[in-house]
Amino acid sequence: MAYVIAPAEVPSLAVSGTQDRFPVHRVYCVGRNYADHAREMGGDPNREPPFFFQKNPDTLVPDGGVFPYPGHTRDVHHEFELVVALGKGGTDIPAARALDHVYGYAVGLDMTRRDLQNEAKKAGRPWEVAKAFEHAAPCSAIAPAATIGHPARGRIWLEVNGEIRQRGDIDQLIWSIPETIAHLSGLFALRPGDLIFTGTPAGVGPVRPGDSLHGGVDGVGTLTVRVA
Ligand code: MN
Repeated sequence: MAYVIAPAEVPSLAVSGTQDRFPVHRVYCVGRNYADHAREMGGDPNREPPFFFQKNPDTLVPDGGVFPYPGHTRDVHHEFELVVALGKGGTDIPAARALDHVYGYAVGLDMTRRDLQNEAKKAGRPWEVAKAFEHAAPCSAIAPAATIGHPARGRIWLEVNGEIRQRGDIDQLIWSIPETIAHLSGLFALRPGDLIFTGTPAGVGPVRPGDSLHGGVDGVGTLTVRVA
């Protein structure tokens, strides 16, 4: 047997403190998971069931990388997020056992063509053009849970050109990491290598070519990306 065309490369991220790589399967994202961000987007900050969308795994950009300003938009926003990396898969995973499935944690940017997302919301269309475009998923190296544990609180922050734009604490997540894994695993068969972008705190806003984005979650890691 031979493939009739060359198979795509396996997308992967660095594992901090090692020479090893984490192979990425799917990239799931939680929408609206901090109350103050839900409010700034005109939504209801109450505890409605979480909702999910996906980004393409081959749109990851590593720490220190470049985000080329995309076409077909005049309003690309940064959404800085804690990212969960699964080491074990499963379906219908109970929240009480969800953390056993986590390999580690990272920080990432859910880059969003906000104008296209707003058009899609109004027209009841899917969000891929707003969320899953090229280079839309900058993500740091993964810090293994075996090293850092399972963070449940800690500052989350993003600076643009040295000015603080987003800040919060991961203890403000509307749906905690175990609850998110429990919900998501009811809807999809989770696999080792899946990433979950867990949602962004308030302060999302536009980026411009030349901007430097630098953010982190205390105890997890940092990410620096330049907009080209
Ligand atoms: Mn997001």
